[in-house]
Amino acid sequence: MRFYENSEDNNADRQGIDMMRKARTILKQTFGYDDFRPFQGEVIRNVLQGRDSLVIMPTGGGKSLCYQIPALVFDGLTVVVSPLISLMQDQVEQLNACGIAALVLNSSLPPAVYRENVRRIRENEARLLYLAPETLLLPRILSLLSDIRVDCVTIDEAHCISEWGHDFRPEYRQLIAVRERFPGAVCVALTATATPRVRQDIKTSLCFRHSADFIASFNRDNLFIEIARKSYPVEQTIEFLRQYPGEPGIIYCFSRRQVDELSEILADEGFAVLPYHAGLNPEIRQINQERFIRDDIRIIVATIAFGMGINKSNVRFVLHFDMPQNIESYYQQIGRAGRDGSQAHCLLLFSDSDIRRIQYFNRRKGEAEQEIADAHLNALMDYIKTGTCRRIPLLGYFGETYAEPGCRMCDNCRTGGDGAADQPQYGRLSAGKTAAKPRAGRPARMRRGLLGGFFGKNTG
Ligand SMILES: [Zn+2]
Repeated sequence: MRFYENSEDNNADRQGIDMMRKARTILKQTFGYDDFRPFQGEVIRNVLQGRDSLVIMPTGGGKSLCYQIPALVFDGLTVVVSPLISLMQDQVEQLNACGIAALVLNSSLPPAVYRENVRRIRENEARLLYLAPETLLLPRILSLLSDIRVDCVTIDEAHCISEWGHDFRPEYRQLIAVRERFPGAVCVALTATATPRVRQDIKTSLCFRHSADFIASFNRDNLFIEIARKSYPVEQTIEFLRQYPGEPGIIYCFSRRQVDELSEILADEGFAVLPYHAGLNPEIRQINQERFIRDDIRIIVATIAFGMGINKSNVRFVLHFDMPQNIESYYQQIGRAGRDGSQAHCLLLFSDSDIRRIQYFNRRKGEAEQEIADAHLNALMDYIKTGTCRRIPLLGYFGETYAEPGCRMCDNCRTGGDGAADQPQYGRLSAGKTAAKPRAGRPARMRRGLLGGFFGKNTG
């Protein structure tokens, strides 16, 4: 972890020590942990001292406790802004199960529940309030909160605030005004991925003053990273899947149509596979996701719509059937593999028509947006074409220097260093390097559809 202090104000007074003692008691008694995970304690101390904190760490690394514990130490309310209603609901339920007075306000609540939640906020009965940004910005909510004491404003998925991020959301931009509404509240911004530029954007937008950044390493050394040119993608995919019989994994495609076609082909080939994309009936989508999480089926073929908030530890591979849009989305998607710490394989297939398709979509954007999208594409192309260890440009993109001579866990380190023989598990990477020929018997129509660089409209 890198930890940058930006403030002179460092008087760890009696009160601070007492608050940290209280934080430790809460960690043990409420959450059941004996000790803080790396840097949780430092973040919590910083927040309790009333200093803004930018926290960047991978999903599953324990980000939430960084504001949940201070919320229980503070006298006033902690407001948590998050973009996804279903995730907020899950978090609130988990907190309630620990006996914590957390609640959510959104338009989908039954009126009686909504009124009761408003009452509890007004009477200072709640410790944490979860809201979508558009809810927080409603005049009646701002007015409700201005009548009570707000001690902390937490912005989850904070990269959404930056146009240079991979998931810019205009409603997040308006959060800039929130700081002025709650001048006495400390601010915590959390995200799993942010480049140095996005990090600066977050801090400027949220008017960070006395602040510290807490940045966990972006390196996931149990992921084997491979990139290959797409020649016969269906056959390359099948050959890849056969390396991991019975193991769970995710295949990302660019469009809904590709998801449907590829999952049909793989099912015909005898793989236990289901599709996932935003065009499916929500109920079916939910069932498919749950079946994947429960290991009922092995493989989920999905658009980028899949994965947000999913914490399945035993994903053994992530295959990009199409080129991702940018390095940040790619990093998030491969980050869903190997969360249990065991090795996992990430293969990205790319082709010239993938590049042309992304360029085509970029050209349809407005001027400023197009410039950003082109910069993202160029960075991704540099990463794909690099002859050095993949971890150098990948981590470099997030402002981190990879100083090892080689990782032995990427295709370039293996072929460059002739280390293939040392890595029996990953010795069979012919899926990418030597394209298998199409096998007889598969419908040519489908193969053409998947091979062609068609311009699918529905990418969600
Ligand atoms: Zn390497």
